[in-house]
Amino acid sequence: MSDCIFCKIGRKEIPARIVHEDPEIFAFEDIHPQAPMHLLVCPRRHVASLADAQADDAALLGHIILVGSKLAADRGYGSGHRTVFNTGEEAGQTVLHLHLHVLGGRAMRWPPG
Ligand code: AMP
Ligand code: ZN
Repeated sequence: MSDCIFCKIGRKEIPARIVHEDPEIFAFEDIHPQAPMHLLVCPRRHVASLADAQADDAALLGHIILVGSKLAADRGYGSGHRTVFNTGEEAGQTVLHLHLHVLGGRAMRWPPG
């Protein structure tokens, strides 16, 4: 997707503080952090949302989750972090490129707003 902001970050066409890269996925710091650690983990391939993921994407999604958790652990939040996929406008998704939020470093409330 040529005009997708997260595809552009993945291609290094716009700047971001990238914290992980591999052939399948990349992760970067959220520009408006909602916690001391707020990372986003994305597939390189444009997938609009979790609702658009297919059975073939199971390994990719598992990789995203495990790398997100590892990034949290590397930052000292291994035993206390939150991983969230917002799916669809009603759930608060604003960027239509699938991403996992990884948050840590403060107390988290439940249920989320
Ligand atoms: P969501 O609302 O779940 O779609 O999450 C989108 C997230 O992307 C928000 O937390 C934004 O702060 C973040 N975001 C939007 N543009 C950028 C950008 N250029 N660099 C880093 N994070 C961004
Ligand atoms: Zn995209």
